[in-house]
Amino acid sequence: MFLKYILIEMERIINAANRLPITIGDKITVSSGGIVSALEGVRQDYEMIWLGWPGDVIEGRKNQQHIKNLLFEKHGCQPVFLSNQEIEGYYHGFSNSTLWPIMHYRPYFINYQSQWWEQYKIVNRKFAHAILKIAKKGDLVWVHDYQLMLVPEMLKQSGMNLKIGFFLHTPFPSYEVFRCHPQRKELLTGMLGADLVGFHTFGYVRHFRSSAIRLLGVECDTMVVNNEGRKCRLGVFPIGADVQSFSTEMKTERFEKKLNEFRNIFKGKKIVLSVERLDYSKGIMQKLKAIDGFLEKRKNKNNIVFIFINIPSREQVPEYHQLRQEIESFVGRLNGKHATVKNTPIHFIYQSLEFTELCALYNIADIAMVTPLIDGMNLVAKEYVACKPDYDGVLLLSEFAGAANELFQAFIVNPYDVESMVQALELALEIPADDVKRRMNGLYERVVQFDAKYWAKSFINELNKIEVISSIAPKKINVYNELFRKIKKSRKAAFFLDYDGTLCGIQDDPDKAAPDKNLKYLLEQLEKKKSIDTYLISGRTEKDLEKWLGKYHITLIAEHGFSYRSPETHRWSRIVRHADLSWKNPVKEILQQHVGTTQGSFVEEKVSSLTWHYRKADPEFGLINAQQLMSLFMEMLSNMPVEVHHGKKIVEVKSMHANKGSALMKFADGKSKYDFVLCAGDDQTDENMFKVNDERLFKIKVGQGPTEAQYTIDSPKEFLNILLKVIARMK
Ligand code: UDP
Repeated sequence: MFLKYILIEMERIINAANRLPITIGDKITVSSGGIVSALEGVRQDYEMIWLGWPGDVIEGRKNQQHIKNLLFEKHGCQPVFLSNQEIEGYYHGFSNSTLWPIMHYRPYFINYQSQWWEQYKIVNRKFAHAILKIAKKGDLVWVHDYQLMLVPEMLKQSGMNLKIGFFLHTPFPSYEVFRCHPQRKELLTGMLGADLVGFHTFGYVRHFRSSAIRLLGVECDTMVVNNEGRKCRLGVFPIGADVQSFSTEMKTERFEKKLNEFRNIFKGKKIVLSVERLDYSKGIMQKLKAIDGFLEKRKNKNNIVFIFINIPSREQVPEYHQLRQEIESFVGRLNGKHATVKNTPIHFIYQSLEFTELCALYNIADIAMVTPLIDGMNLVAKEYVACKPDYDGVLLLSEFAGAANELFQAFIVNPYDVESMVQALELALEIPADDVKRRMNGLYERVVQFDAKYWAKSFINELNKIEVISSIAPKKINVYNELFRKIKKSRKAAFFLDYDGTLCGIQDDPDKAAPDKNLKYLLEQLEKKKSIDTYLISGRTEKDLEKWLGKYHITLIAEHGFSYRSPETHRWSRIVRHADLSWKNPVKEILQQHVGTTQGSFVEEKVSSLTWHYRKADPEFGLINAQQLMSLFMEMLSNMPVEVHHGKKIVEVKSMHANKGSALMKFADGKSKYDFVLCAGDDQTDENMFKVNDERLFKIKVGQGPTEAQYTIDSPKEFLNILLKVIARMK
C-alpha cells in the first residue's frame, strides 16, 4: 500500500510596512498587538512574510547579513536597511513633516525640502525591490500607510502577477487640502498601482476619488478608479481594536493587582481618562480648555481627577516640541488655578504606559475623553470600550475621529466647540447608571465583533477575490513580415494613414504636432512609390493638414472624411456634395452658453462639427453639464443628419457624412482598383475604417485598447519604423 503525500503550497501574504514588528536590543523582541495580532486570524490560511525597517541603523554588510538571517529564520521578517540620511529624509522629513500634516488638514505645518522627496523615492524603491526579490507569482502583497505610497505603482510596473493591496491608516483629506502637497500627483499615481486601496471610512474614499478625478483626470465609478485601462478598487475597512490582547490581559493577576492599586489611589473620585500621542491632530489644547471651563463651573473640585496620558511622539519635529511646551505650561496653570489642598485635578503624564497599567486605567475610568481634531480611526476609543465588559463607562468621542462613524452610542462632540464639550462632560457625569450601561453595551458588542482580526480578514479576502490580469503584454505577431509579404504581392496598393497618435505622438498642444524628420522622410519615400497611393486621413481641419502636409504628393482627407484635397489639383472638395449643415448655428449658440457657465470649457469649430471640450473644467461639474447637453441634443437633433457623441471630456455634434469608413470606401472602390489596402489609426474614429468588411484591408491599431483591427502596434514610433523598413526593402 502506498501513502500518498500531497504537498499543498499555502498562499502567501507579504506585509510591507515602515516598521517591522520587532525591536532589536540585546536580543530581538517581537511586538504583539497592532497589525501582527490582526493577522493572527488568517495565519492558518496563509504563509506570512513581514517586510520593513528593523528600527535601528545597522551598518556593514556582515552585520546586516547576520540580522537578516536571524530575522528571517526566527520571525519570518525581511529587513529593509536604511541609512541615517534615508531615515532623516524619508521618515522624519517627507513622511512626518509633509505627509502627516497634509493628511490631517494642517497644510500650513508642512516643512518641505526637495531632498526629502528624493529620499522618499529612494526608500520606496528599496521596499519595492525587496518585495520583488522574494515575491512569487500570485502572492498577495499588502502595503501599509503613508510612508509607502509609491510602492504599489512600482510593483505594478514590474509586470509581475501579484495582488497588490494598499491600506491608508490616516484620513484622506479633501481635494482642496491634498492638492497643496507639492507631490500630490505622484503620490496618487503611486497608490493607484494597487488592485485594492482600503480606507477607514467612506468619507476618505470620497476625497480620494475626488482628488484622483481632479488631479489625474482619471474616470471613476463609485468604488473603482479606471486608470489607463487598469482598475483600482476602493474599499472601506474600519480597523478594529486588538480585543483579544486586552481581554486576555484583564484575566491576569497582575491586572487585578494594578486595578486595586488604582482603586485605592483614586478612591471616591470620578476618573476622566485621556490617552493619546502628543500630536497636533489630537486636539489636546482644546480638551484642556474644556477641562478648564468645566472646573470653573464645578463646585466640588475634590472628587474628580483627569488622568492625562501623552505618549511622546516625533520629538525631532519642531511643531511637536513646541506643542509639548504649550501643553505642559497650560496644564501647570490649570492645576495652579483649580487645585485644592485635597486634590490636584490634572495628572499629566508624558510617558508611555505599560500594557497592564493601560488596561487598568481603561477599565477603571468613568469617562474617556477622546476628542481629536481629526483622526483616521482612533484606536484608543475602541480599546476603552473593549476594556468595559461590565458596561460601566461613558465615551466622549470627537465627531472628527473615523471611529465616530460607527460608535454612535458615544457622546459625540465637536472639539472646536469648547462650550459644548463642557456640557457633554457635565452630562456624562450625570446620566443614570442604566443609561450608561445601555450605551456601553451597544458599543461593546460592536467593538468586540469587528475587531482587528475581522479587519485584516476582510481586507485580505477582498484582495484575494480580485482577478489580476497580467500587465505583461501578450506576444505580438510580426506585423512587419506580414505587411511586407502582402505589399510585395500587390500590384497597386493604397495606404490610409491617420495622423495624430498614428504617424505622430499625441502632443499636449495640438499645434506642436508638426511632422518630424523621420515622418518627412517616410512621406517623401511614399510619394515616390508609383505602386502605392497614400491618403492621409485625419480629424484635423483642411488648414492644419495643408500647413504641414500640403507639399507632398498625397491625398489629404480632413475632418474625419468630410472633405479631401487631391494631389493633382490642390483643391478641396466635399466627399458628400450637399451635406446639410443647418443644425450648426443653434447648436453653437447652446454650446456658447455652456462655455459661459462652465469655467474652463471651450468650443472648437470645424466645417463639419462642433465640439465642446471640458477637460480643463472641474471634472464632475463638466460631466454634469455634458450629460445635460447630451439629453438636450438627443431630442433636439433627432431628425438631423448628425452624430452626437460624448467622448473623452468632450461632447461632439458632427455631420453624419464625416466618417472615415465611408471616405475609405469611396477612394478604395473608386477608379483606382487597389488589390491591397492598408489602414492604420489609433482612436475611436479610426474604428470606422476597421469596421469595413473587405478582404483587401490590412488593419493596424496603434496603441492600447479594444479594437476591431487585426494587428496592434505599441506606438507611432514603432509604426513609422515598420513602414520605413517595408518601403526600404521594396526597392
Ligand atoms: N498606546 C501606546 N502606548 C501607551 C498608550 C497607548 O502605544 O502608553 C497605544 C494605544 O493602545 C493605541 C495607540 O497607542 O493602540 C494609539 O492609537 P490611535 O489610533 O488612538 O492613535 P495614533 O497614535 O495611531 O494616531
